[in-house]
Amino acid sequence: MKNEELPCGTIAQPILHSSFFILHLSIRLKQQESMALVNEHFLKLPGSYLFSDIAKKVNTFRITHPKQEVIRLGIGDVTRPLPPACIEAMHRAVDEMTNASTFHGYGPEQGYDFLIEAIIKHDYAPRGIHFSPTEVFVNDGAKSDTGNIGDILRHDNSVGVTDPIYPVYIDSNVMCGRAGVLEEDGKWSNVTYMPCTAENNFVPEIPDKRIDIVYLCYPNNPTGTTLTKSQLKKWVDYALANDTLILFDAAYEAFIQEEDVPHSIYEIKGAKKCAIEFRSFSKTAGFTGVRCGYTVVPKELTAATLTGERIPLNRLWNRRQCTKFNGTSYITQRAAEAIYTPAGKQQIKENIDYYMNNARTMKEGLEAAGLKVYGGVNAPYIWLKAPNGIGSWRFFEQMLYEANVVGTPGVGFGPSGEGYIRLTAFGNHEDCVEAMRRIRKWLV
Ligand code: PLP
Repeated sequence: MKNEELPCGTIAQPILHSSFFILHLSIRLKQQESMALVNEHFLKLPGSYLFSDIAKKVNTFRITHPKQEVIRLGIGDVTRPLPPACIEAMHRAVDEMTNASTFHGYGPEQGYDFLIEAIIKHDYAPRGIHFSPTEVFVNDGAKSDTGNIGDILRHDNSVGVTDPIYPVYIDSNVMCGRAGVLEEDGKWSNVTYMPCTAENNFVPEIPDKRIDIVYLCYPNNPTGTTLTKSQLKKWVDYALANDTLILFDAAYEAFIQEEDVPHSIYEIKGAKKCAIEFRSFSKTAGFTGVRCGYTVVPKELTAATLTGERIPLNRLWNRRQCTKFNGTSYITQRAAEAIYTPAGKQQIKENIDYYMNNARTMKEGLEAAGLKVYGGVNAPYIWLKAPNGIGSWRFFEQMLYEANVVGTPGVGFGPSGEGYIRLTAFGNHEDCVEAMRRIRKWLV
């Protein structure tokens, strides 16, 4: 708060006895009044050193072992090119931009109807879920909306996260002060952590207290694990009973292979009253560099004011987007629409099959090397337990030096990630095969 110690207007109070003191004080107040003050919540954020620390360690290894070829299985970015259907759609959209009669300038902030209708028709209707177009908001990727959704929620809501976790959920709450302060155990004071480890089969326990906002991400990054329908239903029931808002990140739903794993939280009855869902075309269709996804905010979803009035979150999110977002580009949205054509569907399936075949190769290879492995069945992430109680960073270094394979230390995703390593299936297949051969040679 500005001028917290001495509110504006108190300077002329007669309690000030010396002219020196008045001068000193007025200079100080003047400085405070004329200074732009930073959002000090940002200063609470520890530097994001995870990936730069990894890069430094890999570079050191390369310099000291110039003849060894390193295989990177730590990357969270896709490597397959865009599906041809999307490329063709983009070319056509670019051509439209060359002609005044078909040119597109600012589009609707919420997204073009052609894409919203395709989303509703292909992603939800076949699962018996029905939305009106005004409930879907096209965006430039799930990171923006999972990070920005807090704009429409009070700063003092309590927050719950599964642990380990995609870091955006916590950091974005730190930035607005909602996460509280960082405590000695590496946890934020206003955040409830729900551990997901091998001990509980990566199924977060339903909290025994009420929490205002809970983030769930399934299929999960970084563990690659999922919840069944009945497990997710427990969360929806908890949210309905406690007036909790669930922020459900389904960025990896396209990778689900098994029957009983929900693709959308709205497959669970009552979820429209308690959940917002985030989706992304990034991993589904190779859009990490193109940037497109969407957020569903059902009309019946509300949250309360301090006086108890129920406010539709759809209205607030729409207002927020109209002020702070000017829409995803027309060319990008035409590319996203093409994902839903028969050719587009076939092409994204081929890419997903390619990555999931990598995941299978990795899972089998690591198990053959005697390691405990989780995920990798309905998600492109493998969550590897370091053997003999070794810590994440120590195992990361051993794997780098002994097998020349790079993963991501699990502890970088939260305290419960200690002792694990994340590997991704987004690389090329030959590299995955070779990496597994090296790990087996090292450990067996
Ligand atoms: N949500 C999760 C769980 C992710 O892992 C990622 C990206 O890695 C995102 C959201 C962000 O994806 P996008 O590229 O759509 O911003």
